[in-house]
Amino acid sequence: MNERPDGTADYVSIDGPTALFLAIKGRCGLCAEPIVDVAAFLGGPGAAEAGAYSDPPMHEGCAEAALKLCPHMARQHARRATGSRVPEGSAVPEGFSEAKPEEWVMVLAAGYGTGLMPAEGGGTVPIFLPGSYEGVRRFVYEDGVLIEKTDS
Ligand SMILES: [Zn+2]
Repeated sequence: MNERPDGTADYVSIDGPTALFLAIKGRCGLCAEPIVDVAAFLGGPGAAEAGAYSDPPMHEGCAEAALKLCPHMARQHARRATGSRVPEGSAVPEGFSEAKPEEWVMVLAAGYGTGLMPAEGGGTVPIFLPGSYEGVRRFVYEDGVLIEKTDS
């Protein structure tokens, strides 16, 4: 998330260059502190299967907080800002869907790589490539509220 000048958090977009810089430095994309344990990645089942993320690695605790606090993730019917409300400079890699997945998958990986992909509408955006999966946590919506699946 980005900090707006007024201090409120901007959950809509992740600043690509900053996220890439933090990731290369081994730091969390949310709190910018070093990631010393596993790196957590948040996305839909497709991202977990492909092993490629448009959002940067973060601490497991920060990923949990993002699931709870980010209005895009926490409430099923919340809509991500589109069109003119999307801050300039935020872009989605080509082929990455903005649609909210039915299920959020948190991949816990031992290390990760970074890369660049062509962005929709030109330019490039960073992508983040988790290393070997140490664990996978799944979160689903029940009555419109996000809860962790514990039966697997
Ligand atoms: Zn963190």
